[in-house]
Amino acid sequence: MGAVDPQGLLAAHESIARELAAQGDWQRAYEHLRSALELARSGQLQCAHPHIPEQYRLEVERLRRERAQARRESLTDSLTATYNRRYLDRRLAELTAPSVALVDLDLFKHINDRFGHRIGDQVLQRVVGLLQQTLPPEGFCARYGGEEFVLVTPAARPEDAVAIAARARARVADFPWSHIRPGLSVTVSIGVAPFSGRPGRRHDPQELLVEADAMLYAAKRAGRNLVAHREHGRVRFVPTLRARVTRPCP
Ligand code: GH3
Ligand code: MG
Ligand code: MG
Repeated sequence: MGAVDPQGLLAAHESIARELAAQGDWQRAYEHLRSALELARSGQLQCAHPHIPEQYRLEVERLRRERAQARRESLTDSLTATYNRRYLDRRLAELTAPSVALVDLDLFKHINDRFGHRIGDQVLQRVVGLLQQTLPPEGFCARYGGEEFVLVTPAARPEDAVAIAARARARVADFPWSHIRPGLSVTVSIGVAPFSGRPGRRHDPQELLVEADAMLYAAKRAGRNLVAHREHGRVRFVPTLRARVTRPCP
């Protein structure tokens, strides 16, 4: 590195301090600000064209990359690489008319017990891939916890939200799971809560999730590998249960 231009050094200290502060590293941010202040006080700042020394430019770039990665990691699930609960909560609070579908793997404990946790983890990863294939470009999937996932479709009509969930259920059920392990088969149950408020009115994300959970419970009770949703106050299933009577859900 050649002679250090004080103006460039000052800019570099400020940039680094900004990045460190954005990462919550207040101690080091403060040290860089102090260095900047000392330079400013030293009366050496006459250079008209600041140039940031290479080593500082690289450090700023590295800090920016680290910040972007930390942000990505803070919003994604490490096992399945789909979004996590934090992202879900944040997006649901922002969206004005989302529909949500709560997806729960059927008898997953049994899959773990029979095939081991490593295969169980692979199943979760594959299920996420299949769920994502069924989403429209503006939709997203988030891990709600354990073997539960939420599909969010912003501004979807109720019938679209149900159709997306029905496709997701069928895709999981039809996947050739026995190629992973002979005897392995996987299904999911899904509870759908379409947005039903007037256009433009804000929704309560918590209410949507409670409704999706009630519908998921109905799908489990009705035999699993089903999508449940409410239509005119009555619980409906996809595929339909011709042999069973649907009851109003509490
Ligand atoms: P149900 O059809 O009623 O949902 O039955 P279930 O067996 O799926 O439900 P239960 O809540 O009894 O079991 C959920 C299981 O999911 C237990 C837990 O060990 C497993 N699980 C949760 N997270 C993970 C994970 O990250 N990896 C693996 N392999 N298993 C997980
Ligand atoms: Mg569960
Ligand atoms: Mg389950």
